[in-house]
Amino acid sequence: MGIREYEARKVRILSRMQKKYDQIEFDCLHPACNRTAIRSHGQSRQHLLTISEAGMVYALDHRYSRVAMRDSAEDPLPIVKQAVRKASTFRGFCGMHDHELFLNIEEGPIVVGNGKQVLSLLLRSVAYEYSRQRYALTCDRLFLNSRELAFSPNWSPAVFEIEDLIEDRSAVLELYLERRLAVACRIHEQGMVSAVNYVWCTIPENIGVSCCAAISPLVEDSSPDTFLPEPWLSVNIVPTPDVTHFIASWLCEFDTVCRISLQGIESRKGFERLLNRIAFLDCEDTCISPRVWDRISSEERLEVQLAVRAPMYRELFDRAPLVIKIPAYRIEEA
Ligand SMILES: [Zn+2]
Repeated sequence: MGIREYEARKVRILSRMQKKYDQIEFDCLHPACNRTAIRSHGQSRQHLLTISEAGMVYALDHRYSRVAMRDSAEDPLPIVKQAVRKASTFRGFCGMHDHELFLNIEEGPIVVGNGKQVLSLLLRSVAYEYSRQRYALTCDRLFLNSRELAFSPNWSPAVFEIEDLIEDRSAVLELYLERRLAVACRIHEQGMVSAVNYVWCTIPENIGVSCCAAISPLVEDSSPDTFLPEPWLSVNIVPTPDVTHFIASWLCEFDTVCRISLQGIESRKGFERLLNRIAFLDCEDTCISPRVWDRISSEERLEVQLAVRAPMYRELFDRAPLVIKIPAYRIEEA
C-alpha cells in the first residue's frame, strides 16, 4: 500500500469510528442520578460569544479521530475555527443537573468575590476534566478492541501505546478524578464556600481568551507522590464585554502548594506569564478569539499548537508563548 492510499484509508477508518464514538451515551456525573449526560458547555456560551467573530472561535479539535491521526505525541495539535455552540462542550451532566448546578454562572453577571460562583466554576472545571478523561478512555478501549487496528501494524499509536494509555487513564480517573469530582459535588451541594480559597483577578478589558481547567499545581521539584491526596487548582478565565475575570480556586487543604504555583501573580509581568502559561500550556481547552489568533504570527501559532498538551513543554514553565498582554489588573483574595 502506498503512503497516500495508507493515509486515505486511515482517515476513512477514523471518520467512521468517530461517528460511532459520537453516539456513545454517558451517565450524568451527579452522584444520585442515572440519566444520560447531555452535551453542555464547559465555558458559558454567553461568555464565549464575547470573544467570537461571526459566532466562531479557535480551539483545539478534540475529536478522537484527530488525536489518533497524529504520528507522534510531539506533533503540533490541530487548533481550528469552530462554532461557539460546539466549542468546549462536554458530556458531564443530564439536562436537569447541568441547569441546576450552573445556573448562577450561566445567567446573570459574574460578581467579583461571589463564593457560590467560585464553587460552580470549580465544580465545572473538575467535571469537565473528568468527562474528557472518561471519553478518551472509552474511545481508547473501543479502538483497541476494534478490528481496524489490524489493517496496519505500523499505525501509530501502536497497540502497546494504547494499552499504556488505557492503564494511565484508568489510574488517573480512579485515583484522582473520581475523588475530586465527589468532593467538588459535595461542597457545591452544601454551599461550603469556606472550604475553598481563591485568587480573583479582574482585567479591565476583554482579552480574547476563555478557559476552564483543573490543573496540577505541582511545582518543579515535586512528584505526584509527594502529595496525597493529589491537589488540583481550578482556573477559569471568563471574558465579558468589558472585563475578563481570572479565577483560580482550590480546596483549603491544598493551600500551600496552590499558593506556590501562583507565585508572581502580584506583579503585572508575573500575572501575564501565569495567565499565558495556563491558557496555552496547562489547559487543553482554551477558546481563542479570531481577533487574537489571526493577529499573531504563524510562528507564534505553531508555538501554541506545540505547547498545548505537549509533555516536553510542561516541564519548561517559561516556554509558554506570551500571546496575551495584560495592560492592568486588580487582584482580590479569599
Ligand atoms: Zn443528572
